[in-house]
Amino acid sequence: MTPEPIAPVDLLVSGADHLVLSPGDELPGGWVGIRDGFVVAVGSSVDEAPPAARVLRADGCLVTPGLINTHHHMYQNLARAFAPVAAVPFDVWLATLTPLWSQLDEEAVHSSAWVGLAELALGGCTTTTDHLYIHPPGGGDLLGAEIAAAVDVGLRFHPTYGSMDITESDGGFAPDALSRDADDILATAATHIARHHDPTPGAMVRVALAPAATYLASEALLTGSAELAEQTDVRLHTHLAYADIEDDYCSVNYGRSVLDHVEACGWGSDRAWIAHGTRIDEAGAKRLQSWGTSVAHCPSSTMLAGGGMTPVHLLRDHHVPIGLGCDGSASTDTASLWLEARQALLVHRWLGGPDRFTARDALTLATLGGASCLGREGELGTLHPGAAADLVCWQLAGPAFSGALSDPVEAWLRCGPIGAHHTVVAGRMVVESGQLVHGDLDDRLAEHRRIATRFQSN
Ligand SMILES: [Zn+2]
Repeated sequence: MTPEPIAPVDLLVSGADHLVLSPGDELPGGWVGIRDGFVVAVGSSVDEAPPAARVLRADGCLVTPGLINTHHHMYQNLARAFAPVAAVPFDVWLATLTPLWSQLDEEAVHSSAWVGLAELALGGCTTTTDHLYIHPPGGGDLLGAEIAAAVDVGLRFHPTYGSMDITESDGGFAPDALSRDADDILATAATHIARHHDPTPGAMVRVALAPAATYLASEALLTGSAELAEQTDVRLHTHLAYADIEDDYCSVNYGRSVLDHVEACGWGSDRAWIAHGTRIDEAGAKRLQSWGTSVAHCPSSTMLAGGGMTPVHLLRDHHVPIGLGCDGSASTDTASLWLEARQALLVHRWLGGPDRFTARDALTLATLGGASCLGREGELGTLHPGAAADLVCWQLAGPAFSGALSDPVEAWLRCGPIGAHHTVVAGRMVVESGQLVHGDLDDRLAEHRRIATRFQSN
């Protein structure tokens, strides 16, 4: 029986050397057919491809689902590798840089997000979140500014409306000028959700709520955020279980551990994904599992900060979903999910043994794990028909890949370094032949340099 011909598609990604639908479910050569922003058909090199309005050649390429960035602070790229904090403890780093970031306004956030999103897209990221928790008085609509940048660059975006209501006079580290009232924060958050959050399949923008950390957000703000998230069906995010100060603060102020505290505030939920979790132990992993909470693992950031390592093997043993994140551009300083995947490969083979972590495990974190963190399982992080058409063509060529003939996925992460050859989001080109498709990158970099110079000189 002759198979039914496939109806014409908008975009056909064709001629791939190797196609990863999801790690382990792979075709040695093949094509991806895309219509209306979704994958509608895939095939191997011997399967007949549908007619297409446009064909994107992927010769010499490994094609994977787009990588998903589950934790970031893009505004921090205005002070990358900042000399005064190059070698200081985390609390000094935070106390030094936060006053600098209190200069944020719409122009600075738009510029830093534009450059940050461009950097991510060039590195093979197709969906990113951002944790923007500094909203200086008079700074304007910062969430709207970064969403505008994401629309312009073309990435799928999960911005979080970050918040902080504990500042210096309450024992925090941030200037009191950055303190905000919990009720005002929640009212503004509700406005942003109503304006920007799109719950439909294929959404390009979804908003989450993200108090900065348990020692930077009051009990009222944590509880109110969890309640608002339930009412509006959005996700929750925060830094959690990554520093001694969290348990110390919760013990003194609430008489309970940090995990008891967040559970009491309504955060023991599959609605939440947390950044780092480096202090999670066996009991903590069991609690995350019972809550259904996911973890954003940012290996470069935690190593540079000297803050320990996310217990990936322990979390995997307890079936806690794990995504990858770049984290702040003043703590990781670079924003490449390929690099984070490679860091994860190296450190978790070192910690757990070479038989416990492979390049496919790292790719799983960067794709399927990220989709779990963002609540988009089955829709993002795979290239199976029905999924959003977010993919990356990685050209495994040149001296770095010469001789890598037997396993393109292992080669992808063991050889390199490498950036995206093509990045496709919702069936649209964002990076083509290693170049950004939209906007004038040189103009944006000049603007970013001007703003960063002002920030760093004040
Ligand atoms: Zn962070």
